[in-house]
Amino acid sequence: MKCRICDGEIFFLFSINNAPLTDDFLTLEGIGKEFLGKIEIGMCLKCGTVQKINDYDLSDYYKTYFYRTSHSPFVLNFYEKVAEEVSRRVKKSNRKKVLEIGSSTGEFLQFLKKLNWTTVGVEPSLKLTEIALKKGIYTIPDFFNEKVATQLLNEFETFDCIVSFYTLDHISELNQTIELIYKLLSPDGILVIEVHDLDLILKLKEFSLFQHEHYFYFDRETLSNLLISRGFEVLSVNFIPDSLRRANSLLVLAKKRESKNLFEIDIQKRMNVLIHFQREWKSFCENINNWLEKHKNNYLIGYGAGGRAVMTLAAIKNYRHLRFLVDKAFGTDPVYTPKTHLPVYGLEILKKEHPDFVLVFSYGYLSEIKNELKKLFEIDEKKVLSLLELS
Ligand SMILES: [Zn+2]
Repeated sequence: MKCRICDGEIFFLFSINNAPLTDDFLTLEGIGKEFLGKIEIGMCLKCGTVQKINDYDLSDYYKTYFYRTSHSPFVLNFYEKVAEEVSRRVKKSNRKKVLEIGSSTGEFLQFLKKLNWTTVGVEPSLKLTEIALKKGIYTIPDFFNEKVATQLLNEFETFDCIVSFYTLDHISELNQTIELIYKLLSPDGILVIEVHDLDLILKLKEFSLFQHEHYFYFDRETLSNLLISRGFEVLSVNFIPDSLRRANSLLVLAKKRESKNLFEIDIQKRMNVLIHFQREWKSFCENINNWLEKHKNNYLIGYGAGGRAVMTLAAIKNYRHLRFLVDKAFGTDPVYTPKTHLPVYGLEILKKEHPDFVLVFSYGYLSEIKNELKKLFEIDEKKVLSLLELS
């Protein structure tokens, strides 16, 4: 296997067996028929980029992808701040144009639309596209590929801004994507990319982010080097304060310019950190297992059915001590988590169910969740625990 970015040799780090897809929620009939596969992670010995080595075709999966956190006031506030910053930086007398790759339901684009920008989204999920279109956000229901890029060039020429939040690390053919972005960005245009930050994944022990959906695990240096080597200059990293960004966010602002000063990459140091990390993950899972075992006679539920919940549950043995999960993005009819088959409901179920403890998987929003559970269901905040408190 060669590096997906620079064709360098890959060093194998670790693998995860029988891993589910994070958004592959099941109906009763679908239980047992879900996809489970191996995830192999390695690091390029030349450019230092950590990446998934093996490959499954996930294109059908993304067409029906539905999970979204865009309801969250926290995320909306973040989008608004990015929109303001982008608007401030792009100086132009006539109407400005923005393209978002992986535009979901158009929440970010709405903020720029309000500021009188022409907005275009590209989003493969048909369900998400439909919601965006209803809101009046022009969205192309497809993957961002050569065909779509040509269509965009014909229709809009170039864009003053191209943004992409938590999407580029899902694209296996990333070199081509960056090339197409380069073509579509105007000479003075700016590029905003948000991906998961490997340094923070390691620091926050976010092992659950190693999933089929993520091909790349960038950090500040490897992402910057990728952009620099493709004709961009990195203007700013994390230009929105940490407290306003999601957990493990790496937010890069770049523009076109030939500059070849690459960061130096310490391959050996990274490798040691990753190997150590794998050991830490094992003890993290052990701690969760122990806590669940100790409280198995209590009424336990989980909050948040995102990737972290699905992947963490898939990695521990005592997940059955949780009766079910709740998540705002779901309704009254349950769906089931892939591999572990725990039911997932909307929050309404808490009107009649009274858990002893709520284990929060989406702990990035912990204070928001505590307030909400207290206000709507009179659940005391002492009963609401972050997954991190168990380890
Ligand atoms: Zn490489």
